[in-house]
Amino acid sequence: MAYERVHENLRNLKLGTLDEILDNRLNANHVQDKSFLDVLDELLEEEVQTRRANSIETRTRLSGIPTRKTLDDFDYAQQPSIDQTVISELRTLRFLHNAENVLFLGPAGVGKTHLATGLAMEAMRAGFSAYWTTMPGFIDQVQRAAKRDMLHAKLKTYTKPKLLVIDEIGYLRLDRESANAFFHVVTERYEKGSTIFTSNKSFADWGEILGDAVLASAVLDRILHHSSVVNIKGDSYRLKNRRRLTKTA
Ligand code: ADP
Ligand code: MG
Repeated sequence: MAYERVHENLRNLKLGTLDEILDNRLNANHVQDKSFLDVLDELLEEEVQTRRANSIETRTRLSGIPTRKTLDDFDYAQQPSIDQTVISELRTLRFLHNAENVLFLGPAGVGKTHLATGLAMEAMRAGFSAYWTTMPGFIDQVQRAAKRDMLHAKLKTYTKPKLLVIDEIGYLRLDRESANAFFHVVTERYEKGSTIFTSNKSFADWGEILGDAVLASAVLDRILHHSSVVNIKGDSYRLKNRRRLTKTA
């Protein structure tokens, strides 16, 4: 009777992990010499850990990040232009608590996307909401939403998360509507949420990218007010590795 009721109540309380592991954990070997409190503590801890891991997994899947590269996978020896202490500081996520922005600038293949992904992974692991997009992806979504007269609702996707990543600024020029939408997102997020931007272009080129010099300076003014700019110089990691592979071949 008690056995059935315990399992039923665990399911009623949606304690799925506990429901699954209880029989195994209650076997005599395991509970031997342990106090009731210790056993309860272990069981609850396991439920909480599993839930936390599941929620991080779901958040990561829904965030749209392109890979699961972490900051630990990043090889600083390959990229001497990066000041490791700056990345360590960013890793504390203080920038996220302070709603500051991060900009990774540099040519193709130097690790901008990797570092942005790694920081987003850290943020989600710490329980923050995050959303990933590329600028071409953003433009595409804005144009589609505008056609269906749903732009206002769509922009919430970009204004709401605590962390937004906009990768690959500079490859595509924005049309009028996308530039205005981008300005709206930047303004809404200003001093409320953090955005990580990556670009292969310098700030001087943003006028051309956004198709409007005045708008670009208003955007940059807000973005840069509270921000860390990481300038990455040097060779493409992809090319370097390819060169190394062909040499040894
Ligand atoms: P970018 O966005 O600057 O064009 P990516 O971040 O996409 O460059 O990097 C290109 C590839 O090289 C990715 O697979 C990335 O994980 C890898 N990579 C770049 N820099 C490093 C590094 N310093 N350590 C480890 N992998 C790196
Ligand atoms: Mg990239």
